[in-house]
Amino acid sequence: MGSLGNLGVLELVMICVRPEDVEILGAIPSLLFLNITTAGGTNGRITVNGFRSLKYFSLIICRCGTALEFQVGSMPNLEHLKLAFPLHKSRCLNNGASSLGIQHLSAISKVEVDIHGNCMTDSNYDPTEDEKDGAVRGVARAINGAMMTLPNRATVRFKTTREWECQRFERVSFVRELAGIDNSINL
Ligand SMILES: [Zn+2]
Repeated sequence: MGSLGNLGVLELVMICVRPEDVEILGAIPSLLFLNITTAGGTNGRITVNGFRSLKYFSLIICRCGTALEFQVGSMPNLEHLKLAFPLHKSRCLNNGASSLGIQHLSAISKVEVDIHGNCMTDSNYDPTEDEKDGAVRGVARAINGAMMTLPNRATVRFKTTREWECQRFERVSFVRELAGIDNSINL
């Protein structure tokens, strides 16, 4: 940990985000900017704690089946949050809280949410104009509701992309898939 003590900017590509990974990263006091791209979290869950200095956080979740939740007191200095995840049904978020716990990010001023799912492609999606009672609207509304409880006139922008394929993250099959890709490269 001593060698990570001065780390300010970090960009990671991880097959699976484990609770211990979040714990280690969240305990780096100097970390200001963090980008993570991942297939999903262990047992379908990424729970965010710590990160006391972080100002910018980007999390791209590539597969369905992971609940994301920011805990009370996590990321107390976070100003800018960027999220991307697939969402076809509520179970694509593993039935986690629709607001993702964004109401707990007390210093946030800007949130960008990029949703891929059973929806229209829209670079500025507004859930109040969506007449379809789908999972995307439900989550966008919940995030809007969470934003309204925050100070700092925090703003949120939603981007939606139509993507039919609902691929759940299953650790073993995904690793096998990666191994398959490696084999084909070796040939
Ligand atoms: Zn899905």
